[in-house]
Amino acid sequence: MAFEGLAQRLQGTLQKIKGKGKINEADVKEMMREVRFALIEADVNLKVVKEFIKTVSERAVGQDVMKSLTPGQQVVKIVQDELTNLMGGEQNPIQFARKSPTVIMMVGLQGAGKTTTTGKLATVLRKRHNKKPLLVAADIYRPAAIQQLETLGKQLTLPVFSMGTDVSPVEIARKALEEAEKEYHDVVIIDTAGRLHVDEKLMQELKDIRELSKPDEIFLVVDAMTGQDAVNVAKSFDDTIGITGVILTKLDGDTRGGAALSIRSVTQKPIKFVGMGEKMDALEPFHPERMASRILGMGDVMSLIEKAQDSVDEEKAKELEQKFRTQTFTLDDFLDQLQQVKKMGPLDEILKMMPGAGKIKGLENAKVDESQMGRVEAVIHSMTIPERTTPEIINASRRKRIAKGSGTSIQEVNRLLKQFEEMKKMVKQMTNAQQKGKKKMKMP
Ligand code: GDP
Repeated sequence: MAFEGLAQRLQGTLQKIKGKGKINEADVKEMMREVRFALIEADVNLKVVKEFIKTVSERAVGQDVMKSLTPGQQVVKIVQDELTNLMGGEQNPIQFARKSPTVIMMVGLQGAGKTTTTGKLATVLRKRHNKKPLLVAADIYRPAAIQQLETLGKQLTLPVFSMGTDVSPVEIARKALEEAEKEYHDVVIIDTAGRLHVDEKLMQELKDIRELSKPDEIFLVVDAMTGQDAVNVAKSFDDTIGITGVILTKLDGDTRGGAALSIRSVTQKPIKFVGMGEKMDALEPFHPERMASRILGMGDVMSLIEKAQDSVDEEKAKELEQKFRTQTFTLDDFLDQLQQVKKMGPLDEILKMMPGAGKIKGLENAKVDESQMGRVEAVIHSMTIPERTTPEIINASRRKRIAKGSGTSIQEVNRLLKQFEEMKKMVKQMTNAQQKGKKKMKMP
């Protein structure tokens, strides 16, 4: 997971100071030495580390902290605040044009994830902002890049504007804007050419496209895994063409986090989104305070709720509630639930968003066995419809057949049936309690 090392070190260091009823300058100094080391290990830009340590130290040795009743906790709060500030403070939303269409230019080096992110961004714009985006293939040097965008467009049922490789990118942009106007697209996302390195010809071309299309946003896509290189790339793109924000990709990988923590400070430009996977729904708005909270092991309940809202189908939720109430909940519904939870993303990532999860013994490095969920699904799939609706009929010979059919064991089938029974019992108790208006209920 991203930030793993940093999170462990910082949490360890802060844990030591947190409970202290009294702290002095020497304590703060000692703690800051460890924090400094943790940040350097995480590949954070050295200048950024220095400033961070200075700010936190100054605030931490302030009289109001030292004399307070809970100085340790206050220091932790200061670290959290400053970590949030370091990453940009508030979440920075997309700037839409007052007059449609909003033009977004996507820039970045080859392999950073620019084309993939173009598709993901269009998905976000359509789903969360109700927009009708037009994707523009302006990388004329790599026919494969145009094809890649067209394939994404098909997959997402989004229109892609392309004119092949013989027309200049500026001309493509011009025609795309005309097309957008004609077809009432309110957002135009231009996927520009990438290079292996920053080069002058490319920068000139980007400037020309910028002049013509007057973008509302210029998003630089950088790969979080490249650490300080990503920061340098951001600085040079910003110096030459001026970017309005950064999209940091591959934050689902085991990056140490240096880029995420340094980019804002070095370029003064916000990270607007982060890429959390290869799939088209894996682009998330970047929330500095939530990220700081996750790094410090305080969980991220807001993101968890949003994820749940995104994945849960409201109609189904209502239906389910009704089934709970009338106690007609079947194994098929159980399967449905399982699939909805899976849609929220990898379970170990979800667990880490829960406050205090890091403190539960053995959970800090928990790797949820997702194959286990697959086995449960297989077991249910091997049942007949009557078995799923009335599991009571599943006798020994049926259990044997189901185990064989699903490639599992009789024990696993038994375990699932037992869990399902317990869940039903719990639901029954809860509904009874609700009906009787009891305030307290016993949960097994
Ligand atoms: P481009 O050359 O910048 O257009 O890069 P592509 O869009 O072709 O992406 C390069 C590779 O990075 C592809 O294999 C993508 O699937 C992958 N990729 C892009 N974004 C992410 C991300 O957020 N997480 C992961 N794990 N992979 C990503």
